[in-house]
Amino acid sequence: AKSNKKGSFSFYNSELDKTEIMNLELELDLKRALVLEEIDVFYQPKVNPNNSKIEGFEALVRWHRRKQEWISPQVFIPITEENGLIIEIGYFVLSKACDFVIDLKRRGYNQFHVGVNISAKQFSDPKFIDNLINIVNSKGIDPKFIDLEITESITASKIFNTIESLTRLSDYGFSISIDDFGTGYSSLQYLISLPFNTMKIDKSFVDSLEIKGSNLTILNTMISLAHSLGKKIVAEGAETKAQVDYLSKANCQLIQGYYYYKPMPIDEILGIIDREKLL
Ligand code: C2E
Ligand code: CA
Ligand code: CA
Ligand code: CA
Repeated sequence: AKSNKKGSFSFYNSELDKTEIMNLELELDLKRALVLEEIDVFYQPKVNPNNSKIEGFEALVRWHRRKQEWISPQVFIPITEENGLIIEIGYFVLSKACDFVIDLKRRGYNQFHVGVNISAKQFSDPKFIDNLINIVNSKGIDPKFIDLEITESITASKIFNTIESLTRLSDYGFSISIDDFGTGYSSLQYLISLPFNTMKIDKSFVDSLEIKGSNLTILNTMISLAHSLGKKIVAEGAETKAQVDYLSKANCQLIQGYYYYKPMPIDEILGIIDREKLL
């Protein structure tokens, strides 16, 4: 940034400092967020479109910064992946998800699985797999109730032997989903060689159902690929009845989207499933 006018140069400079300071503040706040109990976990139901019943949930982290404003995970997760905080937050979210499973069990619900997002960075912790196992063990829950949602970007990274790690987790009894299927650049051959139970179809493909004249080929191909591989399908981000009808006719087993439910705090979820039970 060069300038012949001294004034405009320093103006530019202080503007730059402002965003830098804001980012620094964000990061500093984030470092304290766990201790200050500003990090919370919401749950979004995954629904069987044939009977509109809830069969599972996805745990989605939320940050209530200074207990004043809610910051989206799309904003703060990338920061935590950069500075390594995601490792601690990841264990926190898993523990919370286990507590949720315990809560559900206490109320007589044994059929729900809870999805937990895993970032590539978390695999760089050499104790990652042992820690996951220790957490579910110490909580005393069956790992089949925990569905690890892994994105293609993880499976493509070189930081660990993906197939080996996922096989260990799958052998131990964790359920595994490939998240945002089809949005990365992994080869199909490689992707389908991974041990997983469920394919999560990204919202961007589900959205193509709402766009007139758009190409449904990719969506339909992914659905038939999942069927022929014997994988379960969760379609993400369905917002309209037309989308739900189409996905249900195409035999997508589960739908996660605002059409049914948004992510909610645990108390709201418990209220909904108690009411559902009475029906
Ligand atoms: P994701 O794993 O793809 O999660 C699905 C996102 O889609 C969630 O956004 C959810 O609220 C949103 N969604 C679901 N249905 C609809 C719909 O019908 N319409 C619209 N517009 N959106 C819908 P959210 O909670 O903001 O999370 C964003 C991303 O942040 C997640 O994308 C995930 O990549 C990341 N994330 C969230 N929680 C965690 C976590 O605990 N750990 C890690 N590593 N990442 C997380
Ligand atoms: Ca996910
Ligand atoms: Ca997803
Ligand atoms: Ca997504």
